[in-house]
Amino acid sequence: MANDLGTQQRPLRVAIVGSGPSAFYSAEALFNSGCHVMVNMFESLPVPFGLVRYGVAPDHPKIKNVIKVYEKIAQTDGFSFFGNVQIGKDLNLHQLRKFHDAVIFACGAQSDRRLGIQGEDLLGSHTATEFVAWYNGHPSYKNRKFDLSSNIAIVVGQGNVAMDVCRILAKTVDELKETDIAQHALDVLAESRIKEIYVIGRRGPVQAAFTSAELRELGELADCDPIVDPKELELNYASQVELEDATNALRKKNYEILKEFASRPKGTKKKKIYIQFFKSPAAFGGNDKLEKVFLEKNELSGEPGKQKSRGTGEKETLKCGLVFRSVGYRGVPIPCVPFNDQWGGIPNSEGRVEDSEHQFSGLYCAGWIKRGPSGVIGTNKPDANQTVSHLLEDKAKLYPCKNPDNRRLVDLLNELKIRYVSFADWKKIDEAEIEQGKKKEKSREKFVSVEEMLAVLGKIL
Ligand code: NAP
Repeated sequence: MANDLGTQQRPLRVAIVGSGPSAFYSAEALFNSGCHVMVNMFESLPVPFGLVRYGVAPDHPKIKNVIKVYEKIAQTDGFSFFGNVQIGKDLNLHQLRKFHDAVIFACGAQSDRRLGIQGEDLLGSHTATEFVAWYNGHPSYKNRKFDLSSNIAIVVGQGNVAMDVCRILAKTVDELKETDIAQHALDVLAESRIKEIYVIGRRGPVQAAFTSAELRELGELADCDPIVDPKELELNYASQVELEDATNALRKKNYEILKEFASRPKGTKKKKIYIQFFKSPAAFGGNDKLEKVFLEKNELSGEPGKQKSRGTGEKETLKCGLVFRSVGYRGVPIPCVPFNDQWGGIPNSEGRVEDSEHQFSGLYCAGWIKRGPSGVIGTNKPDANQTVSHLLEDKAKLYPCKNPDNRRLVDLLNELKIRYVSFADWKKIDEAEIEQGKKKEKSREKFVSVEEMLAVLGKIL
């Protein structure tokens, strides 16, 4: 079936759902393709950039510089932003397809994996995702309560999100006050009584998922010492092979940093971060709220690169009222879009969405919802390029949409009383946030409710 999609007379119309890194890299790849393209980007919040705004730690402002690249992409002719429009709720897939020839889901992984152990939902046991979204001022998380009045906090998992959570708990107010951390979080952290943070990995120092820069930072905090038990750095044969694997320099760098931490004399700083290995939480205990964590010691077995942890039966109990479970993110299903409940993403073949009948759908996906929650921001660029190259290969098979006209789309949004936010509107919100920040000598003070964001634009809910 031939069509004229991608020509000057009839540009290819693509909806991108989501506005984080994979969404912007998908838009960029489409604009660089040489085809005539119109991209409409839909975001459920009034503000763009997904995890760059609400996931990247506030004390890592350089990582957020990538926003400048996304703003440039947003200036391309043919790009439109529709913030405050949730696909699957405000507009369904059927409505979306009326205005677009293809849809790319780049909506990330907004939920979290579970440990599946007793007591996981006790008061005081939180996911890292909630805490991260709260301190970053995400409107859906602004009212979450975190009780930082006990001395001990445990972070389960040893990825970079766990590192971020540890750092935010360990830093002094002075180290955070000029960042764009939400004021409500800074106020609670200022009253924190946490002195000991345990960051617990089920496997060993060579298998830890954090990267070296993030690990090194734990040794450079103003009022917190990292503590590593040298005995936990003793390696079995398979781990020694992994450590010497020249194709993965990260493991060796991490190991050297951990050795340096282990060799430090007992520090005198007020807080301590205990980086501990070979332990898994077996259960969380407490009546109404979390009181203790039952840990089981692990040993590793398996070939180098494929080692798994296995409980030894040796147990220990840690009294503690606060746990952050940082064991990975998970996607959330969108109505009428295939979803694999087992791994928490959209089933796909290199970005082509696959339904159970393997029929051509004109639906695509990119980023974490496509490959799972892995990699850094830059990983999303080749990932998005792959998806877009397949979309363009499929161009002749795409079914041209019924209403190739953004004016009709805007009419529908108005009819449905959806206060959508354009990119120019976002820039006004952006300016107002920076202005609010200046008063407090912060890089920005984010609005933490949708109402406040829309009020800047005179759009009242
Ligand atoms: P992650 O890197 O996949 O780490 C997850 C951690 O949870 C691993 O230590 C994993 O251990 C552990 N885990 C998983 N299931 C577990 C279980 N049932 N019991 C105990 N531990 C369990 O995930 P993440 O930290 O959420 O980060 C997501 C992605 O974002 C990563 O690619 C990360 O690098 C990236 N990120 C980057 C930055 C940055 O660049 N600064 C900041 C934040 C996030 P196993 O290895 O044994 O499975």
